[in-house]
Amino acid sequence: MEVLLGLLGGAKKKKKKAFTTPKKKPHHHKNVKLATLKYYKVDASGKVEKNKFECDNCGVGTFMAEHQNRYHCGKCGRAFTKQAGAKETSKKGGKKGKKAAQ
Ligand SMILES: [Zn+2]
Repeated sequence: MEVLLGLLGGAKKKKKKAFTTPKKKPHHHKNVKLATLKYYKVDASGKVEKNKFECDNCGVGTFMAEHQNRYHCGKCGRAFTKQAGAKETSKKGGKKGKKAAQ
């Protein structure tokens, strides 16, 4: 029968694609123990100073992450560039963070 003849060849195995760029390593989060200790500084007289910027959108207690060239709030997605004197470069939309009930 002719139908059987058509099945003989079968589908050819596809040639493996050769990648030109090396595989990207996925980003792994490194846990920094007691990271909050770096957020505050206590001097000899017992005064507490804050070392990091606080997000003016999220309020007190929400610190902004310090990157090479910018500060970023992980809660609301707000970002400031370092060079342009805290100029806002907030993303459009961003995450819809819950507003802190204070
Ligand atoms: Zn924020």
